[in-house]
Amino acid sequence: MKASLLPSRARAGSSAVARLTAELRANGITDARVLEVMAHVPRPQFVDGSWQTEAWKNKPLPIGSAQTISQPFVVALMTQLLLAGGPRRQVLEIGTGSGYQTAVLAELVECVFSVERIRSLSESARRRLRALGYRNIHCGYADGTDGWSVHGAYDGIIVTAAAAAVSPSLLAQLVPGGRLVVPVGGGEIQQLRVIDRGPTGFTSRDVAAVNFVPLLGGRA
Ligand code: SAH
Repeated sequence: MKASLLPSRARAGSSAVARLTAELRANGITDARVLEVMAHVPRPQFVDGSWQTEAWKNKPLPIGSAQTISQPFVVALMTQLLLAGGPRRQVLEIGTGSGYQTAVLAELVECVFSVERIRSLSESARRRLRALGYRNIHCGYADGTDGWSVHGAYDGIIVTAAAAAVSPSLLAQLVPGGRLVVPVGGGEIQQLRVIDRGPTGFTSRDVAAVNFVPLLGGRA
């Protein structure tokens, strides 16, 4: 994305940030751009006051409405996987939640569209991202089970809730050369799947076991 769109850098030179960065590195995050963004997007600003002291730790935290902000390692891994297939210009995220993954993406791609099915989360994430200075994010209050076709197609899609199966209309919103990163499975533990759209069809591989809240239909 353009440098002029970057929000002011977090003043986060603390040892907590250094510890998190070291842990991400040790767990296989090798993309220097991703590591840098993880160190400066201010995760404490995406959680409630009572969780501030935990926010630079590598763990998921509650964000209200029975949802969680993802573990930093999972955010970094999904972002690294999305970018590894080539530069991404227009990216869709399904499951805005706190807006943290949205912000990480917005630092690295030109434009992010993000949908959330819970109104209160969608509205607070929109306000938070605006206050942080992001101008390349478009938040929508919608059920993203089948993507967000009105703004597609996308060259990258990230789903931050677990789907029992990948919707064909989501796949249809990927441009040729595009990549989808999605946790797949109906149980507590799911597989993080990377699906690429090639010139003649789709290829898919599972890269890690993950634990996401379920992708649910309808709005709340
Ligand atoms: N990316 C978020 C993670 C939030 S948890 C963050 O960084 O904070 C997953 C989110 O997906 C929840 O907020 C949940 O409400 C949302 N979600 C679940 N099913 C959805 C659907 N069909 N459409 C849009 N959002 C959905």
